[in-house]
Amino acid sequence: MIILKICPKCNTKQPVDRFHKDPSRKDDLSFYCKSCKKAYHKDNKEKLVERAKKWNEGNPERAAGHRKKWLSKNMEKVKEYAKNRVFPPGHQKEQSRRRREKNPELMREYRRRSEKKNPQAKAIRENRRRAIKIAAPGTGVSRREWQEVLRQQGGKCLRCGTSDDLSMDHVVPLVKGGADDPDNIQVLCRPCNSKKGIKTIDYRSKDYKAAILKDT
Ligand SMILES: [Zn+2]
Ligand SMILES: [Zn+2]
Repeated sequence: MIILKICPKCNTKQPVDRFHKDPSRKDDLSFYCKSCKKAYHKDNKEKLVERAKKWNEGNPERAAGHRKKWLSKNMEKVKEYAKNRVFPPGHQKEQSRRRREKNPELMREYRRRSEKKNPQAKAIRENRRRAIKIAAPGTGVSRREWQEVLRQQGGKCLRCGTSDDLSMDHVVPLVKGGADDPDNIQVLCRPCNSKKGIKTIDYRSKDYKAAILKDT
């Protein structure tokens, strides 16, 4: 015998397996049928998400508890989902770029560790860097020229002002076709340098740039 229950929303008699379980109710079944619930959630998605978000913010500990419980119950599903997830092209690159930007210190630490484990990685990276440098336009930057740039730019990181751990930054990165030339060099500390990444940002003063233009 099939047990039926009436859904007051769509007003139809349906087998009980068409209702979600709800231990808080007398008959252990939710008030409305699955289809009606689904339709309601679909129609009110934004409102419900907003409400859940508010609740989570107001009850961080209980929310964390729920998350943990849900996760332990759905671990297999989550793993399966992660395995089958298809990312748009370039996603991986974008992700790691964001991570690098967010925490350059930590990324350097990761790299140091991986280089220890795999010494060839460093050699490969340096080789690539050298190749880009050789192919780049410009005459290169001698040690004397670098000292001169350092002096003229105030001997400090142009972005954050520190005088620690200074490095040579190519304003237009070599990989973006920038020249390996003193005129394309600005003083940045290493953390600011890696934060800048392969973007073209010129931190040098107007006067400094005007002076370069006059010289050439
Ligand atoms: Zn219904
Ligand atoms: Zn800096």
